[in-house]
Formats: sequence, structure tokens, C-alpha cells
Amino acid sequence: MVGRNDLCPCNSGKKYKKCCLNKDKKNSMLKQKADFSQKHDISVTQKLYAYSRKDKFYDEYMNAQHKFYIVDDKEINSKFNSFFNTYYLQDYITNENKTIAISFFEENKNKLNVIEKNILKSKLKSYITIYKILNIEEDKAVLKDLILDKETYVEDINVLKDLKVGEVVIGRTANIVEVNKFIDTVLSISEKIKDVIIADIKNIYEKNKDVYKSMETFLIYNTNIFYKYIQQLIDPKIGEYLKEKNIEKQSDTKKINDSQEECGVEKLITENIEDAYKEVALTIWEEYKNNNEVKGTENGWASAVEYHTKKEDGINVTQSAIAKKYKVSPSTLGKRYKEIKLIHQI
Ligand SMILES: [Zn+2]
Repeated sequence: MVGRNDLCPCNSGKKYKKCCLNKDKKNSMLKQKADFSQKHDISVTQKLYAYSRKDKFYDEYMNAQHKFYIVDDKEINSKFNSFFNTYYLQDYITNENKTIAISFFEENKNKLNVIEKNILKSKLKSYITIYKILNIEEDKAVLKDLILDKETYVEDINVLKDLKVGEVVIGRTANIVEVNKFIDTVLSISEKIKDVIIADIKNIYEKNKDVYKSMETFLIYNTNIFYKYIQQLIDPKIGEYLKEKNIEKQSDTKKINDSQEECGVEKLITENIEDAYKEVALTIWEEYKNNNEVKGTENGWASAVEYHTKKEDGINVTQSAIAKKYKVSPSTLGKRYKEIKLIHQI
């Protein structure tokens, strides 16, 4: 223990009381405050966790895992244990349409003390976002929330040393017993990844604007989006997996499109025939198509449908004029027309 009148341990040559004493006092106070907050946080989280693992939540626990994890690989997924626990306790919505933390709060209202209640309430409102570290001071780091475009700070001096000014991080903050702090591991990301994620989030929000009052509400209810990014960022194998899945999905979409193009007769009719005949023509084709095997070019069939429709309506049209319109030979049109007419007469 350094005495007030001893030389300061920082080697300034001054007496301790004239040099670092006040700073050290302040730091030790902050440390006590941070440790006090930490202690209560751990204690209430342990109670909440024990509650969440009760038998009645077994299906919910399995379902939460299913929703949270991208790949089915125990070793990879073990890297995200702490994130999963936060998700499961704070964000996952159970069959009863609430989070586990809310159920816990409701069931234990009378047993919880004020500090515990406040911790639970504060976490309830927490969300994951992207922060830029603007400034690091002795007792706090000033952060800018890049999605909500607002400034905040963290004052947990145990993590300040791990942050760098200018750094961009994915994090989740809450006020735990008077201390603003990160409640999950903080993940540092590059400027490029930051831009991709922010654009993505804003895009999803735009599409769901009607559902959420504000971006903040959107973030509170959609932490899972960030948890998916976090998994990809922590393990590159997950990024690869998603990329492959995406390619599969795209080729599935292409297959669907291809099969739709095979039904292009409707499209050709719609594009070529006058509006007045459209409905009748499409009905004729629909009937024929549903009851007969269709072989040969789509243009041939479409031309025959138009010819048949107009002929039935008493219009004076030639096969060759319509064949020309659909870029087929008059004999093709003639053949298809016979088949359609035959069926139609029966
Ligand atoms: Zn000193």
C-alpha cells in the first residue's frame, strides 16, 4: 500500500497525494461499482437460466436452438453458447407469446428484489446494434449507435481497455445496476461489413415498417438477424454454408421459372390477342390444356387458340394472317386448330 506522502509509483517524482492518488481513488470506486453491477447481473441471470431449463420449457429450448443456430454442428455451435443463452432468455418468443425473461418476471414478481427487477426490465429493452467507438475516457467509452444514429456510452471499466477509438463493433448494451455496459461479447467488424449489415437491416426494416413503431422497436424484436451475422462472422464455415444454400435456392427459383415458361401459351395469347377476345381465348386454352396432352411449340398452340376464338365469334380471319403474327407456318396452325376444334365440339 502506497502512503499519501510516499513517492508516486508512476515515477513522476512527486508525492503520491499530489500525483495519482485521486485518480486511483476514482478508479477503485468505479471498479467497485462495476463489480457490484456484475455480481447482481450474474446472480439474477443464474436464477433466470435455472428457470428456463425447467421441464416445461424443454420444447421451447429445442425450438429456440432450432431457430438460432444456422448449422447442425455441435462443435461449431459451442462457440455461440453465450449468445444463444442471451437469445433464449431475452429474445426467443415462446408458445405463450412472451420471452422466458417475461414469464420468469411474472411468476417471481413477489420473490424478486428491486435490483433484480430493474436488471430484468433493462435487459427487456435491450437490442443489438452497431456502434462506433467515438472516444475513450478514463471512466467511459462514448459510442455512436450507427443504426439509430444516436450517442450513448458504456462505463464498465472492465471492458474499456479492450476497446479502441474508431473501432466498429456489434454489441448489446443495457443499464445494469446504474452501470451502462455491454451485456454480451462485443464483436469487432470491418467498415465494409458494417456497411453491408446496416444496408441489410434498413432494407428489412423498410419492408416491415407497418409492424414496428420505430427502428428501435424493430431492433428489440429482431435480434436474431444480428445473431445470424455474428455466427457468420465468428465462424467462416457458416458463411460458406449460407452461400451454398443461397446458390441452391437460386437454382430452385430458376427451376420454378423454367417450368413457368413451359406454360407460355397463356403469355403468348395475352400478348398478341386483342383485349376483347382475351378472356374467351384463355378459357378455351385452359380447357384444352387441362384435358389433353400438349406437344409442340407454344406459338403453334397460341396461334390456333386465337384463330379458333375469332372464328367462333364469326370474324373473318385467315389462318395465314394469324400464323404470321405468331411466327408459325399456316399448316402448324391448321393442325393445332383441328385438334382444339375437335375437342371443343365434343
Ligand atoms: Zn503519479
